[in-house]
Amino acid sequence: MNFIRLPKVELHLHLDCSLSYAVVAQLAPSVTLDEYRARFIAPAKCTSLADFLTRPPQSIALMQTEAQLRLITQDLFEQLEQDGVVYAELRFAPLLHTEAGLAPHDVVAAVEAATAEAVQRTGIEGRLILCTLRHFSTEQSLTTVKLVEQFKGTTVAGFDIAADEAGFPIDAHIAAFRYAHAAGLPCTAHAGEARGPDSVWETLQYFGPSRLGHGVRSIEDPALLAHLRRHGVHLEVCPTSNIQTNVYADYPDHPIDRLYQAGLSVGINTDARTVTDITLTQEYEKLHAVFGWQPHHFLRCNLAALQAAFVPESLKQRLTDRVIEGYREVV
Ligand SMILES: [Zn+2]
Repeated sequence: MNFIRLPKVELHLHLDCSLSYAVVAQLAPSVTLDEYRARFIAPAKCTSLADFLTRPPQSIALMQTEAQLRLITQDLFEQLEQDGVVYAELRFAPLLHTEAGLAPHDVVAAVEAATAEAVQRTGIEGRLILCTLRHFSTEQSLTTVKLVEQFKGTTVAGFDIAADEAGFPIDAHIAAFRYAHAAGLPCTAHAGEARGPDSVWETLQYFGPSRLGHGVRSIEDPALLAHLRRHGVHLEVCPTSNIQTNVYADYPDHPIDRLYQAGLSVGINTDARTVTDITLTQEYEKLHAVFGWQPHHFLRCNLAALQAAFVPESLKQRLTDRVIEGYREVV
């Protein structure tokens, strides 16, 4: 089966973990392909999420000017185009891109403009999610969520919290999520990756996201699964990334098939195209090989992801029609 041609939706994708060698070579010509592989791509098996998180700073160092941010955004859209993606939400933490003097607002404006341009050029619909990070302060989180509000009506569409779930508590970020809800800003949150169901419960209670980044360890708590299903909370699942960060030992151990069979709203994502060294097409091939997933599984995941997307209903419907049309010949 030709998985490349299947229309794909990707909601969980970190801009700063997805630089192709082509764009790195353009921005830092001295970096050889071998160096790129060693420094930008993490091993297929890291000891932990914290180990995995040592790679993104290599990319972030190359994302400090408006021109760099523009090139890297364009580069990612080219990767998405080759992968058959029709709708993507890219996420990044604006406050990490101010080392060369850009103001956080300028960072977002540069990525936003490049995204809007890429949407026009490629026909891929795209939105941006601005991330706060677990180790950030309350003030940094509030600054980030206020940027989402300031860019309302552009391709900036939502708010997220990322980084080391196991290493830092939620307390500093409760105010930012409260602010997001008061301002009507869509939210997702990383949880249930480096920690188990207790982390997902506290994330739901204090952050109130409509989606969870990963959320896969919810499988350990039947009451939590029932809650997620009842409230239609969407799981942005990234199987290969979870194997890499050692959440699960091997692909067959991953709970994506069980979550799907349990009737949850599940989507398929790469998380980090470079750091994890994976495309969505390759992820679909693995799901097909390991769990026997067929086009109707991928169709259901893509439609579930679109339902959970941070876009207006009218666009959701247009994208849904486009995805269904793309699967018509194979389902
Ligand atoms: Zn992530």
